[in-house]
This record gives sequence, C-alpha cells and structure tokens, in this order.
Amino acid sequence: MTVRVRLAPSPTGTLHIGTARTAVFNWLFARHEGGQFILRIEDTDEERSKSEFTDNILAGLKWLGMEWDEGPFFQSQRLDLYRQAIQTLLDKGLAYRAYDTPDELDAMRETQKARGHAPRYDNRHRDLTPDQQAAFEAEGRPAVIRFKIDDSRTITWNDMVRGPVTWQASDLGGDMVVARASSATNIGQPLYNLAVVVDDIDMAITHVIRGEDHIANTAKQILLYEALEAAVPAFAHAPLILNQTGQKLSKRDGVTSISDFQKMGFVAPALVNYMTLLGWSAPDATEQFTLAEAAKQFSFDRVNKAGAKFDWDKLDWLNSQY
Ligand code: GLU
Repeated sequence: MTVRVRLAPSPTGTLHIGTARTAVFNWLFARHEGGQFILRIEDTDEERSKSEFTDNILAGLKWLGMEWDEGPFFQSQRLDLYRQAIQTLLDKGLAYRAYDTPDELDAMRETQKARGHAPRYDNRHRDLTPDQQAAFEAEGRPAVIRFKIDDSRTITWNDMVRGPVTWQASDLGGDMVVARASSATNIGQPLYNLAVVVDDIDMAITHVIRGEDHIANTAKQILLYEALEAAVPAFAHAPLILNQTGQKLSKRDGVTSISDFQKMGFVAPALVNYMTLLGWSAPDATEQFTLAEAAKQFSFDRVNKAGAKFDWDKLDWLNSQY
C-alpha cells in the first residue's frame, strides 16, 4: 500500500503556524514512508475564502520547503462529486431534507437548555411524509440535507497519536447537515465533513493527519465512510500548539502567521526544525536537524498527546544556528 496523506487548508486566513505544523507532520510521514503528499484547498465557504489567502498558503508552504506531490486541488471545482455522494446517501435512505427555520431551531435549543440538556438537533424532520414536505416547499422554505446519525452507535478508532479513541454517536449533536440551501429538487452547498470524506476517498488518502481540534469531526466522518461503503483511513491527531499560559495559540498571541515569522527574519530551515519539535522529539533527543534528517526518524510513536507549548527562546536559538 502506498501511503498517501494530504494537507487540506481552508483559505480563510494566512498560513497559520498550526496548519504549517500539520503540513510538516504530513510531509515528514510521507517522506519517511516513501509516500505521497497531496495539497487540497478547502474553499467551499465562498464568503470567507479569498484567493489572496490561497496565494499566501501556497507561497508559505513552498518557502518552508513543504513541496507537494499532487495538487493543489480546489474543492470549489469538485462540487458535483460531493452532490453525487449526497444523492447516494439520499437514495439509500441515509439522509433526508429538513425544513426547520432558524427560529424553530433556536426555540428547540432554548427548550433543551432550559431542561438542562446540551443543545442538539432532535431529528424532528427525519420522517416527514411527502405531504408535509410538499407543504414546506410550498411555503418556500429552503431545506438542508441531514445525514442520519444512529445515536446507539459507539465510534472507535486507533489513533496513531492518541491510541484508542471512543466516541458516542449520541454526543455528535443529532443528524448532521451535509448540504445547505437545498430544495426537493436540488442539492445546495455541500459542507465540510461530507466534502472532506468524499475527497479523501477519491484521492485514496490512507492516513489523515490533522490537529486535535478535529477529533469530533473524525467521529462524524467515520460514519460517513461507512455510509459510503469506503475503507476508513488511519487517523493521527497532532496536539494543539499552546501559548505561554497553556491556552491554544491564537491570533491574540500576536505572531501566528508564517509570513509574519518570515518578515521578522526567521529563516525557513529554523522554522520547520522548530515546528517539528512542536509535539515530536527525535529518538536521540537532538533538537537541531534538517527536514530530511527528521524524515528518516519520524514516526507518530514519538508525537506527544499533550499540547505543545510555543517557546520563543528555542526558536531564537535555532534561528541563530542556521
Ligand atoms: N479544512 C480544514 C481546516 O482548515 C482541515 C480539514 C482536514 O484536515 O480534514 O481546518
């Protein structure tokens, strides 16, 4: 089996250190395994995606030396593929059109909260009769398409970083929206979890390596793989990058964008070296290495589960070594 991994950034901002670190782990694993590294731009969110961010991401990856073997592929050019998959789910009775208005959904959530329950979709439109559906259509209500989540399921996978992970399907928030702005005769805008799974199947991705913030998505996505009768890839969830106070590193912490590090005078070999250390350590504990050297030794056994604290002193030190 040829290892195939991918980086799938959304061009809703400049290349963030977290995404770049995910790129580094994907790249190192692909090179270690003699596999392929694929780049996919997740630009289905038309309002928030900007071509200048795509340019910044591509330029940043090249500057860092994260050359990709295939792509970039753009999700905005692949919408038909996602709609076909949604149609398959509808045909199999695994998805349905729901016509709830935003006000109705708000009221539902308020009631749940008032009863002390976590807000979730209560699947109220799962079994609409054709007459009920026709009545909603006649009112001119837009539909979303929801994928049925069987609340009795337990989802498990053996994470390459975290070991066995277990999720209850009942914690996934009810039947999940896979497309917006639809009607009885049309499938509107496909959404993230569906598009990712369809692409990862189509691109024969064997290992999905991404940040820990995607763990709940992984549980949802495994259900989609099963529904689409596709093999489930392996998953590795890299630890979050934390600031000095142990919170997730965010824009408020100042510099988080690769182009900003570049402007501050950090050199690419120092930065990729440093990003590799954000979660991984070499078997011989050396801290200064080239990407090629790291690739020889890289494995997920040596990636930490705990968050990785950003350390400016170490980055400065590495920068002075190159
Ligand atoms: N587009 C997602 C993001 O930028 C990543 C999706 C993934 O890696 O599956 O967070």
